[in-house]
Amino acid sequence: MEKKEVLMAEVITIANRKGGVGKTTTALNLAYSLKELGKKVLVIDLDPQANLTRCFDVENLENIKTIGHLLMAELEEESYSVEDYVISYDEIDIIPSSIYLSVTETQMRSETGSERILSEIIELVREHYDCILIDTSPSLNILTINALCAADSVLITADTQLFAIVGISELLKTIQKIKKRVNPKLSVKGILLTMCDSRTNLSKLLTEQVEEMYQGKIKVFQTKIPKTVKVGEAIYSGQSIKKYAKGSSVDLAYDHLAKEICYE
Ligand code: ATP
Ligand code: MG
Repeated sequence: MEKKEVLMAEVITIANRKGGVGKTTTALNLAYSLKELGKKVLVIDLDPQANLTRCFDVENLENIKTIGHLLMAELEEESYSVEDYVISYDEIDIIPSSIYLSVTETQMRSETGSERILSEIIELVREHYDCILIDTSPSLNILTINALCAADSVLITADTQLFAIVGISELLKTIQKIKKRVNPKLSVKGILLTMCDSRTNLSKLLTEQVEEMYQGKIKVFQTKIPKTVKVGEAIYSGQSIKKYAKGSSVDLAYDHLAKEICYE
């Protein structure tokens, strides 16, 4: 983190209560596309599954300082420096996760007022970044609540399956409550449809349904992320799409999304 110019990051939490809808894939590849636009990006892996961390080729996961340790330090009111928990990879900064985060989560659940712990941490580094992306787990636990309390906006990912779309409305209710009670600045950045398959009628139908349902209320990103085996292959080899399949349809889609986020 050599750059000391003062920036003021927009904090975007990526969420959906349904699992497997492209949250982690979006956090990873959007980070790379934002970097290509010259943005200084921090990604925070707030899922004990640590899937995002693995894509950043972080070694020695058992022995590194993670978001679980960082939240615990803030919770215990220990002195710490956030920079010690940040790893840089391909000019993107990441605060990694590990299974230890589930220990932290248990501890956080039993403390009153712990929904703002992550927010306290982010305020310390906000001025070093243009964008901070938080990847969350599908459960609406105290960690995800922290991510919503720390965010300026929420990017909701949904694949074109009915349950993911039900997940959107459940999440929107939670967002409204958090906005009212804890974080009045919270807004919805938009709904991103992932794993879109233009060849199947169901995919097309559900895409149209989401667009109709939220038209004029919530932005549905123009960008749709196509379904392609390249995503799985890239993850399998521990890489971003930008490295594994630069110029592919899904790479271009994430570039397009980054532009929609930055310039619209
Ligand atoms: P979880 O809720 O478990 O954290 P998630 O919402 O983060 O899941 P991902 O891990 O990003 O979802 O994706 C779930 C699965 O779908 C992965 O196996 C991934 O490879 C695959 N996938 C994601 N995006 C695409 C895509 N555009 N095309 C094809 N497969 C995809
Ligand atoms: Mg995930």
